[in-house]
Amino acid sequence: MEKDIKTILSECGFGFKKQLGQNFITDKNLLASIVAASGVSAEDTVVEIGCGAGTLTRALAEKVKKVIAFEVDKTLQPVLAQTLAGLDNVEVIFRDFLKTDLKEFELALSGYTVVANLPYYVTTPLIMKIIEQSEKCKGLSVMVQEEVAERLCAKAGTPEYGAITAMVALRAECSVVKRVPRTLFFPKPNVDSAVVKFTFGKGIAVTDREKYKKTVHAAFLSRRKTLENNLINSFNITRARAQEILTECGIDLKARGETLTPEQFALLSEKIG
Ligand code: SAM
Repeated sequence: MEKDIKTILSECGFGFKKQLGQNFITDKNLLASIVAASGVSAEDTVVEIGCGAGTLTRALAEKVKKVIAFEVDKTLQPVLAQTLAGLDNVEVIFRDFLKTDLKEFELALSGYTVVANLPYYVTTPLIMKIIEQSEKCKGLSVMVQEEVAERLCAKAGTPEYGAITAMVALRAECSVVKRVPRTLFFPKPNVDSAVVKFTFGKGIAVTDREKYKKTVHAAFLSRRKTLENNLINSFNITRARAQEILTECGIDLKARGETLTPEQFALLSEKIG
């Protein structure tokens, strides 16, 4: 790519859409380190969500077998035609990833890794979509706002720990692999970011995912209430029954939901149904 990305964007008359979280990465070292941190190799198929001006797409395509990139903003088409020129292993799908039928999309794939620099407002729905629906995703490396990264990787009992942390633990192990200052984006956002890596297949075993989900959501229904009270309200059970279940699980009757580990949620969800 001869021209610099800012020149291409300006020549194409591209207008940034704040509502789509369009803060692009232009720093070559950062791009290389995201690709390295994601652990992808020459045999891999990568799904990139929100490819923007294609800088990360290009860095990925130079390292892996194939990149399938989703982008909701069709006005990026002329930009991508230039930034991805000469690459024959990239397919761009101009579609909202959140509205994509994942089962149907996965039919043609044997396995894939997701790499994405996400706008904050799609972070949770997108991660939950993959956690809940994907059968073939092997790993997920996402750039998110720093405070979201803390929440995703939080330990039980901390203020950052929430329903999303416990839901992610069901399928994957999750860690912050890189902190990224806001100055490395164009235009510069108001917050710093971090890359979080999820390794699938290292989650916890549960027999009924829906029951686990319902238990987690019940536990975080009201952070000010005890777990016992939240269970009574969500599962429509008596106080005596709630206390019996908590005792069977070895959980203190005064405990609050946010103190339970994902393993304790799994045990609780087995007993409560
Ligand atoms: N990957 C590029 C980079 O790192 O420079 C762009 C990142 S930018 C933070 C996020 C991109 O995701 C934007 O181009 C935006 O239009 C796109 N986007 C937002 N919501 C999307 C969705 N639901 N499906 C697909 N793309 C989306």
